[in-house]
Amino acid sequence: METKEKRYFQPEYETMPVENIKKLQSEKLVKQVKYVYENVAYYRELMDKKGVKPEDIKGVDDLHKLPFIKKDDLREAYPYGLLATDIKNCVRIHSTSGTTGKRVVAFYTQNDVDLWEECCARALTAAGVTNDDVCQVCYGYGLFTGGAGLHGGSHKVGSLTLPMSSGNTERQIQFMMDLNSTVLCCTPSYAAYIGETLKEKGYKPEDNKLKAGIFGAEPWTEEMRRDIEKNLGIKAYDIYGLTELSGPGVAFECEEQKGMHVNEDHFIAEIIDPNTEEVLPVGSKGELVFTSLDKEAFPLLRYRTRDICILSREKCSCGRTFIRMTKPLGRSDDMMIIRGVNVFPSQIETVLLNCGYAANYQIIIDRVNNTDTFDINVEMNPEDFADIPNVITGKEKKLQSAMKTMLGISPKIHLLAPKSITRSEGKAVRIIDNRKRLGINI
Ligand code: ADP
Ligand code: ZN
Repeated sequence: METKEKRYFQPEYETMPVENIKKLQSEKLVKQVKYVYENVAYYRELMDKKGVKPEDIKGVDDLHKLPFIKKDDLREAYPYGLLATDIKNCVRIHSTSGTTGKRVVAFYTQNDVDLWEECCARALTAAGVTNDDVCQVCYGYGLFTGGAGLHGGSHKVGSLTLPMSSGNTERQIQFMMDLNSTVLCCTPSYAAYIGETLKEKGYKPEDNKLKAGIFGAEPWTEEMRRDIEKNLGIKAYDIYGLTELSGPGVAFECEEQKGMHVNEDHFIAEIIDPNTEEVLPVGSKGELVFTSLDKEAFPLLRYRTRDICILSREKCSCGRTFIRMTKPLGRSDDMMIIRGVNVFPSQIETVLLNCGYAANYQIIIDRVNNTDTFDINVEMNPEDFADIPNVITGKEKKLQSAMKTMLGISPKIHLLAPKSITRSEGKAVRIIDNRKRLGINI
């Protein structure tokens, strides 16, 4: 017998007529801009420089008058420069994976946490999750937003929450089987890995009680979705977000699985040309820009995500009226996402130079058995070339551990003979991302 599923977590917002969404956004925007101008000196300077005053912003149609804010600003303002409230009103900090030395940290008041968790609860509800479910959260817990976000969302929905965090696949499977998990939340690559491990152990998809999965934080393909759905016997839903804006749940997929609904009562989405910064009409491909509407601790106006995507206002059969975004179709900067961790080539260069190497290197990324592989070829210094293999292995290990400290993940290091990496005549080809052959839009 089938129980009637609750379709929306907050129908009053999720199915609001589009005109009302625009009205709500306008009212909130006017307030948020004033709040930011009055409380964040960094923003006040940016706005003054552009000659915009809070009074100039009367609604969403004036959004384009505001200056953009970029990741570099967040690094420059690290750690407290963009904080809009007294630190004593904040209850949480999260952080993105390492960047060149400085991480980006985001602050949350209790209200910020509540709204974020509600966004995750909307995503879970859209995937058919109710208080009858057992929700296994195997996103990482800690500074990373994945674990905390879905954990909070699962609580709001009233599901029985299993705060597993990532890793220890044996234990994940044991709990999944013994405690009858019905929902799995993790990165798509980890979901695929769990699916394969189950298969290797001789389990059939019908042996588990899973019905849905909420997978995000990294790019994945429709092929991968089909594999995961087949191996686990579930329906797999995408979820999008970024730490700067709260974390996962900025946008989420419904049963249509045709793009992710942006939580428009909390965020305004725009698409711009990343080179000219011109706002493009809905339906164009460009860089996604977000403005937060309700954030108290760490509000962001026109934040450039660097994610390239397309928005659509097309009516969705699920009844939600929120605009939909495609999966990110690429990035407008050189950031790589490897095993869910953001990696910049500049970080790798910094480590090489600090360890006494020249910046002649090549990064090779691939995906084997649904797990990202990460190799770095580095040219040895000429004076080291005669070293015996043992010494070279030792140097590789040392460099690997320095990389791990900087990046949070371990690449395989290969020290090669001097001048063995082909010099390019134009732009150096530093990154060979073989995941593209699998159709993954990196
Ligand atoms: P998170 O904690 O959600 O991983 P980060 O701030 O570390 O947040 O990284 C955010 C970036 O991760 C996004 O800008 C985007 O490039 C990528 N990302 C997040 N969710 C998805 C998704 N569902 N599909 C593709 N890329 C995603
Ligand atoms: Zn929908």
